[in-house]
Amino acid sequence: MLRNDQLEQWDRENFFHPSTHLAQFARGEGAERVVRTGSGVYIEDRDGNKLLDGFAGLYCVNVGYGRPEIAEAIAEQARELAYYHAYVGHGTEASITLAKMILDRAPKNMSKVYFGLGGSDANETNIKLVWYYNNIRGLPQKKKIISRWRGYHGSGLMTGSLTGLELFHKKFDLPLAQVIHTEAPYYYRRPDPAMTEEAFSAWCAAELEQLIEREGADTIAAFIGEPVLGTGGIVPPPKGYWDAIQKVLKKYDILLIADEVVTGFGRLGTMFGSDHYGIEADIITIAKGLTSAYAPLSGSIVSDKVWKVLEQGTDENGAIGHGWTYSAHPIGAAAGVANLKLIDELGLVKNAGETGAYLNAAMRDALGDHANVGEIRGEGMLCAIEFVSDRDSRAGFEQPGKVGPALATALLQQDNVIARAMPQGDILGFAPPLCLSRDEADTIVAATVKAVKTVL
Ligand code: PLP
Repeated sequence: MLRNDQLEQWDRENFFHPSTHLAQFARGEGAERVVRTGSGVYIEDRDGNKLLDGFAGLYCVNVGYGRPEIAEAIAEQARELAYYHAYVGHGTEASITLAKMILDRAPKNMSKVYFGLGGSDANETNIKLVWYYNNIRGLPQKKKIISRWRGYHGSGLMTGSLTGLELFHKKFDLPLAQVIHTEAPYYYRRPDPAMTEEAFSAWCAAELEQLIEREGADTIAAFIGEPVLGTGGIVPPPKGYWDAIQKVLKKYDILLIADEVVTGFGRLGTMFGSDHYGIEADIITIAKGLTSAYAPLSGSIVSDKVWKVLEQGTDENGAIGHGWTYSAHPIGAAAGVANLKLIDELGLVKNAGETGAYLNAAMRDALGDHANVGEIRGEGMLCAIEFVSDRDSRAGFEQPGKVGPALATALLQQDNVIARAMPQGDILGFAPPLCLSRDEADTIVAATVKAVKTVL
């Protein structure tokens, strides 16, 4: 085994880390850690520190770490056939089985799964499919995509544009021209404190409708949204939001892409977020929980309505010119099959609902009255605390974006608990593996209370 100091040197000299403050990292001021192993909700680093991962990696290790069933399925697939492509109709037992398992679990109007590697490329695929769809329908001008401020849809050129968070646009010349943003369903930051949830949902829908009218419905192809805003602050929608939005989209013949990269496969206590909120999407994006991140794999689940037009398109134009070398990679597919079986066998969807509700309630009991806690919100195995300098006015801190990271650092240093300082505002996020127990939830809450005492 390499010595730690050797690894650290190589790391600094050679490794360009994603989403990292490069200069701080080079100076040794970052949060670097060499992770060695993991089991259940814990990871362990090379120094022997055992950490409770309250964010399941990047909300993706849904079944928890160290599951031998998935490791063995991957090994067996690698021995049997590590790779063959999926172009021009090729498949493997794993990829064909996984497509069926996904469709068996997906909302009833869904028809086929296109496989990619991660959430970003799946959303890139979705936008291309939407454009293709409108070209085949003879509506070549209907191309703009609406997403929400605070939405997160990836880091590609188009998906980084769809993302409604400044950090992902800054200095990258994004967003691209075809993307327009509408209001986030962020009830805590509603324009008028007197608004009920339903009234705020109606306001969001009215804002959307005005945007569509301004731009012209004949120029707008699709709306993309996460059932619960994730990276933008873990924000569940207010009551009636998805019904109100869907009414507007139907009225103007605008497709709905439900980005379920975080919410798919149980995180909200239902198989999909679409089930939870009565969303009838035209395309659903899946990734993360599809394999619990044991191997990279994503998917675009396409509805019958879209599929029929795509089929017609290939009759008119030949094979669809869109594919990745690693679409439906056999190892990812084998991991997916084993992972979905495990989710069922362990009852993780139910546990996400029940233990997630327990975690949220315990967090509210412990910190709900704190002078700097503006809101504690969540759904299923997602929980966030928004910190403010003043509860009544909901004013943020003089220096925004400092308290969240300080709290995450305190949780880690004092109690070896990983939380995520969400990238915009002072919001601490929790998205533990779906196998979290009540005792582990208690550990997270106790560590958070201690961190709040230290920092605020
Ligand atoms: N969509 C959502 C809702 C996400 O949360 C993410 C990643 O966090 C993505 C898309 C992008 O996925 P990936 O990082 O796998 O490209």
